[in-house]
Amino acid sequence: MSCDSLSNVPNRGEPKSWRTKVHPALLEVLQLYRDSNKTLLKSSPADFKLNAEKLRAHISQAREELLKRYPELQPGSPSKHVTAASARFLSERDTVSGSLEWLCWRRTGQPLEALLAEENAGNLKAHENVRRVRDDFWRVLHGQGPILPFKGNPAHSEIMELGLNLGLNALTDEELADCFDEFCTCGKAHDADALKKQRAHVHKQFQMAHDQKLRAIPSRHRFHAHGTHGIEARAFQSASREIRYVEVSQHGKQPECLVYRDGTAVAVENSQFWGPGGLDRLLEAFGVESPEHLFSMFFPA
Ligand SMILES: [Zn+2]
Repeated sequence: MSCDSLSNVPNRGEPKSWRTKVHPALLEVLQLYRDSNKTLLKSSPADFKLNAEKLRAHISQAREELLKRYPELQPGSPSKHVTAASARFLSERDTVSGSLEWLCWRRTGQPLEALLAEENAGNLKAHENVRRVRDDFWRVLHGQGPILPFKGNPAHSEIMELGLNLGLNALTDEELADCFDEFCTCGKAHDADALKKQRAHVHKQFQMAHDQKLRAIPSRHRFHAHGTHGIEARAFQSASREIRYVEVSQHGKQPECLVYRDGTAVAVENSQFWGPGGLDRLLEAFGVESPEHLFSMFFPA
């Protein structure tokens, strides 16, 4: 190897630094993800089904154990990766709807429920996407595959979705690449810049899915949203609907900040949202760009 080619090797610093920045559950989830993929890749067509069933049982058990150890990761908390990592397959019907939801998300980047709602409202693009997902599903079900490949690198999307809220969002681009080098089984080189873009894309997809879901819920049922660091937001609306705001608190306790439609954010003195950096903390907790954006999550225009 010449000196030239050596100098082209990217310097990513301490290779394991990313491990200390992520939630410990993520390390276990990623290990499970990698080992499962390796087992399936090695499986002969005859063994594939049995191995997949064994893995499903193993993952289900690991999920229960993780939830016991990290109760903050219960579904409904901001980190849904544990649920996503091992959706329950309780019955054949669950398997069918779970597979359909997964196919829809991979194919269109939209939750199935939201896509169907758009189709029902007469949106042609949604209608075409529903047709496509239905076609994929039919082919898989009746062994008429393979289906067309998904856009981008699905392995990268999956890892990013599993870990985004478990610390991948806090890594530098180089650390992100180190993480993928260790756990991704796609066999390709991991470019820090490409992964950074992929992370931004997944973040945006999550935000859109979240907003779409909120929009589908009547406002009186939109009780609260969980942000990071135990920060919660809920909508307030007076009976006459004249007064509307979003109140933000720590674990649903006394409100520390109120956010109004025009973007005014009123923070309680000496609260965590008071003073310099307070607004950033608020926006970061919910992954929004502005106070107006937070308001619109509860009161879509
Ligand atoms: Zn990869």
